[in-house]
Amino acid sequence: MSHDQATVAEEEYLQIIYWLQEAGLPITGANIARAMQVSAPTVHEMIGRLEGDGYVTRAEDKILSFTSSGREHASQIVRRHRLIERFLTDVFDIPWDQVHEEAERLEHWMSPVVEERMLRAIGDAKTCPHGHPIFEGEREQGVPLADVEQGATVRILRFENEAEDLLHYLKDIGLHPGLKGKLGHADDEEIVIEADDSTHSITRSVAETVSVVANPSPPVRVALPDQLVLGRERYGR
Ligand SMILES: [Zn+2]
Ligand SMILES: [Zn+2]
Repeated sequence: MSHDQATVAEEEYLQIIYWLQEAGLPITGANIARAMQVSAPTVHEMIGRLEGDGYVTRAEDKILSFTSSGREHASQIVRRHRLIERFLTDVFDIPWDQVHEEAERLEHWMSPVVEERMLRAIGDAKTCPHGHPIFEGEREQGVPLADVEQGATVRILRFENEAEDLLHYLKDIGLHPGLKGKLGHADDEEIVIEADDSTHSITRSVAETVSVVANPSPPVRVALPDQLVLGRERYGR
């Protein structure tokens, strides 16, 4: 099979691998299975196909890495995904908690011409509406909101998990990337962000998936794989 014709399923996997890598996680079958919520045998089979088609290589320790073709394909699909989300939000006025699934469908079928026009249409936007950089190499380092101490100032950087049920919840409680505030009350269950003229209460489990810039800042840490990426039912709303 030609490298230029990745299947939709392969593109989904390349995308997930890219997300894991961006988040600093080792690319293993187990991490992919967790992030995609599919079984280990399913992942194993697909990794074989990705290897056969020249997108990834597998080291002795079973950790995967992209080939240059794999990396190129993956960054292209991720860029398109984020661009489509931004376009649907800014140009078509679709609420930002409803664009992820749409982008999942559209990203596989977009021609370079459409991509080019979309890029023009979004002006100087640099991220998807959830805070992820559209262009490679522009990712600002954040820390999980759940790690921040009371009294610290925070700015919301991005929502690491784009499962739509999670995005609906985040929108409902009034959070969005760019929001600034101070960490108010925090306990085992919930964390309160006090912004200038609003107060937002978020459950601690969801706060694990929200990256912020904080002052003072807790140490940087790598997210857990199952807190990332498209867990559909994990947070039960
Ligand atoms: Zn998305
Ligand atoms: Zn997004």
